[in-house]
Amino acid sequence: MMRSRTVAFLALLLLPLVTWAEPVAVHNLRLWQAPDHTRLVLDLSGSLEHRLTRLRDPERLVVEMDNARLTENLAPLDVSRSYIAAVRGAEPLDGKLRITLELRRPVRAQSFVLKPYGQYGHRLVIDLYDEAVLETAPTPEPRAAAPARPVLRPRDLVVAIDAGHGGEDPGAIGRKWRTREKDVTLAIARELYKLVNATPGMKAVLIRDGDYFIELHKRRQKADRFKADVFVSIHADSLPGSRARKVSGSSVYALSDRGASSALARALADSENASDWIGGIDPREMDNDVRRLIGDLTKEATIADGSKLGGDILGGLRSVGPLHNERVAHAGFAVLKQPIPAILVETAFISNPREEQLLRSSAHQKRIAQGIHGGLKRATPWIVARREAGSAPALVATPVVPAAPRPSDPPSSMREHVVKSGETLAAIARLYEIHIDALRFLNGIQGDDLQVGTRLRIPARSGDS
Ligand SMILES: [Zn+2]
Repeated sequence: MMRSRTVAFLALLLLPLVTWAEPVAVHNLRLWQAPDHTRLVLDLSGSLEHRLTRLRDPERLVVEMDNARLTENLAPLDVSRSYIAAVRGAEPLDGKLRITLELRRPVRAQSFVLKPYGQYGHRLVIDLYDEAVLETAPTPEPRAAAPARPVLRPRDLVVAIDAGHGGEDPGAIGRKWRTREKDVTLAIARELYKLVNATPGMKAVLIRDGDYFIELHKRRQKADRFKADVFVSIHADSLPGSRARKVSGSSVYALSDRGASSALARALADSENASDWIGGIDPREMDNDVRRLIGDLTKEATIADGSKLGGDILGGLRSVGPLHNERVAHAGFAVLKQPIPAILVETAFISNPREEQLLRSSAHQKRIAQGIHGGLKRATPWIVARREAGSAPALVATPVVPAAPRPSDPPSSMREHVVKSGETLAAIARLYEIHIDALRFLNGIQGDDLQVGTRLRIPARSGDS
């Protein structure tokens, strides 16, 4: 008797929670246009269930969200350069919110939700891929499968220029003028592109040429598709705290498979690697990417060549201004995991107001590009010599096939950590050298609360067995 009364009482308590749940508010829309897709991002006040329905004649996509509403005074969205002709919202009485995207062309739509990360709260991301582009896109020839060509045919040195961040991911933000790293990196990349293409024997490829986000593994894939010989990723550094206002100078980083050269380098790699979480990558794809990185250990030769290339680039940058690091620093940057010499240039500290001002000036952007270009010219002879001596295959990463997991093992790309009494999320993040936000993201944790006995997914690192 007693028990059933308690149950009934509890049910009464729960009932209002279920029926009166506050609808999730859609309070902002953002649109990014990439060469092959439009990305629409909805900022949400909480998580929600959603469905996509495609309708034809005319082409439309309906985004249906359960228990959601549009915030009043939603800022108008400029759709002029996207695949979307118009966005219309409707809130029928069933509590669902339907947003209809009127499309300019047939698209293949993909969507995923993102948990809060960095400056963003809950997000719903809808990617619209141009069907025509998808059908005509050539399938990239795998580098390793290219036939050995005994004829020494001179070929231009192909330089992949990667402007860091973009779209949803602004990168670091300057303190004085709120300069966005993604704009500075693109401006410098375009300057470098012009210089490289004006140099006989060199050819440039821009990995990103606009304000849109590209996942880190897709940046690597694009360089591979264009048969790039070297990869240069351009960034601007930032440090927190007031002391950071005085820190200045440029640095060059190369990949390391033996840990970072300093705690600062590791923190920097963590923050640059977080780009995927901020820019928005489908969590399912993230799992695949972790797996891909594990199976694709870059050979020691490539890592050594990255350091050598970094030394040449540092030489070029010395003429631009003071260096923050006199030597090439090392850390596990995901974007540098490539079978070609690859480096990441932190052009200056955007957190230092004096350098932020320099980074905004087109004259200084040009000088930085000239410095990097000088370094590339210095590196060209040895990279070409190595390629033409037929040692290129040595630079190709041999995929390491992990041993088949036993049925009881977690997937090979993931380890497991069982939370013990007294452990904090921060301590576990430190233990596995993983960014705390990444740990939250992979395990769907918000805040810092941990239950003893919880099994946490931890990405395995290269070299782990
Ligand atoms: Zn960056």
